Amino acid sequence: MRLVFLGPSGSGKSTQAASLAARWRIPSLSTGDLLRDAMAKGRLETIAAHSDLGKQAQAQMEAGELVPDQLMVGLMRESFGAPATQHGWILDGFPRNLAQSQALDTLLQIMGQPYGQVVYFDVPENKLVDRMLKRGRQNDSEDLIRQRLQVYNEQTVPLIDFYRRRQCLVEIDGSLSPQEITDAISSVIKPLAIV
Ligand code: AMP
Repeated sequence: MRLVFLGPSGSGKSTQAASLAARWRIPSLSTGDLLRDAMAKGRLETIAAHSDLGKQAQAQMEAGELVPDQLMVGLMRESFGAPATQHGWILDGFPRNLAQSQALDTLLQIMGQPYGQVVYFDVPENKLVDRMLKRGRQNDSEDLIRQRLQVYNEQTVPLIDFYRRRQCLVEIDGSLSPQEITDAISSVIKPLAIV
């Protein structure tokens, strides 16, 4: 089972990634969590193999911008190298732009892992902002939330068509309740996984 969860912050994809990964006993690789963890341990510079990139990344995360692709690809290479990811994974937060999706193709080819499905969480924008304000993560001002959405619209939205053309996109109505979303994903993905 190899799945990419695609959708904006507040679309519910992280909650679904965590619960479905636990159910299917595969790791959920949340790039936001991996970055925050690497930052707390002072490892960003090492992963980026470039000290300036590591420093830049912290400022970019705080500003709601994407961190450099080189750092992200390093982080994913490291994650795919871990034994836990050999039998499947859910990617939560990667790829987030076209360059990253091409890097993912290359990484999967190198790892000899066949391509999976991309689950796209579709949620109207006003509902997203509402949900994120309610979530109230520290430092999540409305400005920062809107900045993240703008970056998503500019850089990540093109991936929807990219994967749709590749015929591996599964679209889910992310405005449903968490349980309804879980059921919708399970009913679409399970039959595919068995085949
Ligand atoms: P998230 O928890 O997924 O909202 O991610 C938090 C922050 O981490 C984002 O606002 C970005 O600054 C950074 N980030 C996470 N994933 C990526 C990615 N694939 N590419 C670039 N930056 C990322």
